[in-house]
Amino acid sequence: MHTKQESNPKTTLMLQINHANPEPEKIQIATQIIQNGGLVAFPTETVYGLGANALNSNTILALFKTKNRPMDNPPILHIADNSQVYLLAKEVPKNAEILMKKFWPGPLTLIFKRSNTIPKETVANLDTVAIRIPKHNIALSLIKQSGTPLAAPSANLSGKPSPTTAQHVYNDLNGKIDAILDGGSTNIGLESTVLDLSADPPLLLRPGATTFEDIQAVLPNVIMHPIINYKQNIEIKHARSPGMLHKHYAPNAEMLLIDGAVQDIISKITALSEQYTHEGKKIGILATDETQKAYAITNTIKSMGSRLNLNTIAKNLFKELRDFNESPVDIILAESVPLDGIGLAVMNRLQKASNYKIIKA
Ligand code: AMP
Ligand code: MG
Repeated sequence: MHTKQESNPKTTLMLQINHANPEPEKIQIATQIIQNGGLVAFPTETVYGLGANALNSNTILALFKTKNRPMDNPPILHIADNSQVYLLAKEVPKNAEILMKKFWPGPLTLIFKRSNTIPKETVANLDTVAIRIPKHNIALSLIKQSGTPLAAPSANLSGKPSPTTAQHVYNDLNGKIDAILDGGSTNIGLESTVLDLSADPPLLLRPGATTFEDIQAVLPNVIMHPIINYKQNIEIKHARSPGMLHKHYAPNAEMLLIDGAVQDIISKITALSEQYTHEGKKIGILATDETQKAYAITNTIKSMGSRLNLNTIAKNLFKELRDFNESPVDIILAESVPLDGIGLAVMNRLQKASNYKIIKA
């Protein structure tokens, strides 16, 4: 019987590395792997990325296969300084230069019309490319040393919550990738904001830690893609659109997102948990510090953090979703959070994790 080379398990090297001052010899090991066409997971300020040489089409095909990622979902290219944009983008509009100056390095990805230096596999045959500069010393050192832009989608199996620790990466990808740089928990915890500057007016495709309000202050004409405009899309029947069909961020159990005022959410979740418990189901509740004591302790209750600090909720969300997979729950009832600032991004991930099963409280 012949076996395909790529299906053989790899030995995944786990390297602890200092997040502020990464040890050069460890960056050197990772660089060698990248330059040989391998895959290295590394921390950024958003989530862990799975890095591959963006200009090597074979490596990119391996990257998609390893993550089991749909081929029509291109990765973001991570670069270390602004000058690299001019090699990868066909044109760099004035708008982009203003945003780059204000928000890079940072959690803002910009979509440009692309140059021909990028293999078509890297951009899923699109005529555009997504680029950002991460604000993280390990990521920046690795990109600089490698001397090439790194395609770095989140370092999880496609469909699962993005990894915010090296252990999450290990759980999904051990034996499938060459190395993991363990630089501790990521700071933001949600993937970057994605803004399409090849569209006119500029179009927000994915909310993140660089908020809609932050961008609006610089580009007053920016608009939201209808699918992330939560207020317009609360009705389930309007929530789907072709670009949103890929399953994402899902815990193993079915999840329902309960939306409304806090007191109404508590009442609704209490009623639903009683109903499902009668049906013999085990309930998980994704709550907040302020609300978690309101629920019967027979449920598995996890808190995302305080409602007064949406940044903490963003940081904890994916970890809590993954942790539910360790508990024997059949259904997760999740609280909605306010849409201000990074709340829009948290709600976007909660909607996707629930596969748009949203219930009005
Ligand atoms: P991930 O790398 O897993 O954080 O996901 C990357 C995100 O960037 C996905 O939502 C992609 O659809 C989006 N993306 C990457 N390249 C493009 C592009 N050229 N146009 C629009 N969206 C893109
Ligand atoms: Mg992802």
